[in-house]
Amino acid sequence: MKAVAVFPRHKKIELIDHPQPDALSDRQVKIRILDIGVCGTDREIAMYEYGVPPEGYDYLILGHESLGQVAEIGRAVTNVKVGDLVVPNVRRPCAAHCPACAAGRQDFCYTGRYIERGILGAHGFLTEYIVEAASNLNLVPAGLRDVAVLAEPLTVTEKAFDQIAAIQTRLPWLQKANIRQPRALVLGAGPVGLLAAMKFLSEGYRVWIYSRGSEKDKPPIAAAIGAHFVDAEQAPPADLPHVLPGEIDIVYEAMGAADVAFAILAELGRNGIFVFTGIPRRSHPVAIDTSALLYNLVLKNQVILGTVNAAPVHFQTAIADLTRFESKFPGVLKKLISNRYPIEQFAEPLSHNAGIKNVIAVVAQVLG
Ligand code: BGC
Repeated sequence: MKAVAVFPRHKKIELIDHPQPDALSDRQVKIRILDIGVCGTDREIAMYEYGVPPEGYDYLILGHESLGQVAEIGRAVTNVKVGDLVVPNVRRPCAAHCPACAAGRQDFCYTGRYIERGILGAHGFLTEYIVEAASNLNLVPAGLRDVAVLAEPLTVTEKAFDQIAAIQTRLPWLQKANIRQPRALVLGAGPVGLLAAMKFLSEGYRVWIYSRGSEKDKPPIAAAIGAHFVDAEQAPPADLPHVLPGEIDIVYEAMGAADVAFAILAELGRNGIFVFTGIPRRSHPVAIDTSALLYNLVLKNQVILGTVNAAPVHFQTAIADLTRFESKFPGVLKKLISNRYPIEQFAEPLSHNAGIKNVIAVVAQVLG
């Protein structure tokens, strides 16, 4: 069957013929892959900067943002049936069974020796069929066929949101209805930024999105969901207090630009949280005024939070939120998917990022 694989040692990416998965064991499911989303991690793997093939292979099949349809189930599988749409979790526990992995929270793995399908040590989903343990699958309502490939990028925000909620239990008065509306500044209007903006809006925040206005498809999406768009090309970080007067409760960084992020950290409000989700490219060192930073952090009770990956529960909340977003922001999720490429054209979305989310449509139609 067709699969897109990176050969890190030979520095090549190819459409290969990969053997069909073996017969199913009792608790496994065979899935026909429909859509694969391409993200910055995939592009880094495609530049041979990241990614590890599974043991015994000199190649890694790409793809971790996915949507598939159940094609066959093992005899003991009860949570999904043939024809169901599913999104598999990405990360698998470390072999050492560290306390986090043992608790089913491999997104907090202590050893760093976890496995991630399509990224670290296990083949991904950019192929015609995969086999997966039924317990790693999340059921998707049929109505989300066209947008459920966005579930995995939304899990990043779901996990971040959980942590924000946990940290802000330190401010119990926020639960009271008459407190001012909380305010979030989202850095970056890529898929993770826009999905985060939708999440914050759905949870009652006022939202500003800080991104390059020259990326013309993005300001109209911000307007359609009811977020304010701040053009980063017109407003440097130091101008933010004029554009966005008042306290910023949450800065949600989904841009991967360390220099801009640290400049904006100075604008975070009292008792605020700065959430880093973007993984920056290694670039030149930037100078930061560390005492000004610490002055604010301490005197304003601020928290800086780095977060990555997500637990199975976040896949479920992400799928539920996609349904919520479809009714709250009708038609917007579909606009986040800029292009759909057939698998033969895999090289295009892997080499550059045009638009918001690029998808490789492995199978164009849902089977009846
Ligand atoms: C994936 C995460 C993964 C991270 C680091 C991201 O693109 O969405 O699941 O943990 O890359 O490998």
